[in-house]
Amino acid sequence: MRSYIKVLTMCFLGLILFVPSALADNSVKRVGGDNRYDTAIQLSKQIYSTASTAVVVGGSAYPDAISAVPLAYQKNAPLLYTNTKKLSGETKNRLKELHTKNVIIVGGTPAVSENVANQIKNLGISVKRIGGSSRYETAAKVAKEMKSTSKAIILNGFVYADAPAIVTYAARNGYPILFTRESSLKSATAEAIKSNGIKSTIVVGGTASINNTVYNKLPSPTRISGSNRYELAANIVQKLNLPTSNVHVGNGWLYHDSIAGAYLAARNNQSLILTNGKNLSVGARKIIGSKNISKFTVVGKEGAIKDKVANQLKNPVVGETIFIDPGHGDQDSGAIGNGLLEKEVNLDIAKRVNTKLDASGALPVMSRSNDTFYSLQERVNKAASAQADLFISIHANANDSSSPNGSETYYDATYQATNSKRLAEQIQPKLATNLGTRDRGVKTAAFYVIKYSKMPSVLVETAFITNASDASKLKQAVYKDKAAQAIHDGTVSYYR
Ligand SMILES: [Zn+2]
Repeated sequence: MRSYIKVLTMCFLGLILFVPSALADNSVKRVGGDNRYDTAIQLSKQIYSTASTAVVVGGSAYPDAISAVPLAYQKNAPLLYTNTKKLSGETKNRLKELHTKNVIIVGGTPAVSENVANQIKNLGISVKRIGGSSRYETAAKVAKEMKSTSKAIILNGFVYADAPAIVTYAARNGYPILFTRESSLKSATAEAIKSNGIKSTIVVGGTASINNTVYNKLPSPTRISGSNRYELAANIVQKLNLPTSNVHVGNGWLYHDSIAGAYLAARNNQSLILTNGKNLSVGARKIIGSKNISKFTVVGKEGAIKDKVANQLKNPVVGETIFIDPGHGDQDSGAIGNGLLEKEVNLDIAKRVNTKLDASGALPVMSRSNDTFYSLQERVNKAASAQADLFISIHANANDSSSPNGSETYYDATYQATNSKRLAEQIQPKLATNLGTRDRGVKTAAFYVIKYSKMPSVLVETAFITNASDASKLKQAVYKDKAAQAIHDGTVSYYR
């Protein structure tokens, strides 16, 4: 009984210790290996302990890998990479470990040599090669190998960046991927469309990838494009309404990883988005914000996608559009005192908040980023058209007397009263602590920008410009940075 109570107590303590942080941050899991071969293997381990059939492609043969994914999915086979001339050691071991009986090589001998095929055969595995004399022919042959369907995905055979996100969808739906050139439909592709009875196509990429002449030659085409690889991937998820409960995140420049990751995403019935390896892409941020995605599988180790990006994904502010409004500007200087102009102090702090929120993965938008005047209504309109999730107006306080001092944060109860109050309560104590100012607390007032903004909104009065002690802090970069940090931290904890 005693030990039972002890266990219970420990469980309870465990809950107290672990639940808050577990609930607070987004969930991020990393799956990757030491190189492209190992990464494909580590991804395969998420799904397979054994596999009677495996698909093997050349580690640099991106078009072959792209067209192989829907076939691998249909065959319930892991997708593995090899060196061209020699079977990669890790892949060899993995084939043994999987007790694989049949290997399908996708690609011609320039991508996977006969020597590799023979090395696989020497493991007692039967080998079938699906390969043509070009990427177009290989893709056409893969399509022929798949179950019949009336829809196909069309990609530019050289623009690998267009592929990863759609590959997942193609695999899930059994659609083959066929390649074309930017301005001419290849005969192998045209024949494949005919012989497979393809009645409709999804064209992926803008007109720079596949122009309208090619587009108009395709059966019932619909196009999905984006202003860059990241936005294209996000648009694919958005337009095709792909599942987002555990989004896989690949490096948009490491095709071997992101294509293998796209296959894992398909097997998990999830979608894949793309990022820059060093900083979370804006395209990724937008879809994360609009779909409220909070669970991620990062494809690749630190060498492929930096911890900074993983931490951005973890941060609950990721993808949130935060409108930052430095009060006043130009002819409207705001409060004046102790050699300070309020408009300048506000802008300095706001820029720091902008930088910090951007580094945390949010999508900050500023009402002004220089000494410009906008009316209060213009500021409200800007936040509305940015579809901002939060509105934060930054000011400094003033009084006829030089004695009032301290920091305070306002909200208005017209719209989003509860959330506005909660945001104010997160920011205010951190502000007073960081600045070492008197904590004047959270207050309500019908200031125009927070009264008429429909999203949760607050107005921060950092400190009194008219008080000598407060003003001396507002003059110093180190304190302006501390104020910005408090606003940033309060915003992040609002989302926790
Ligand atoms: Zn002001």
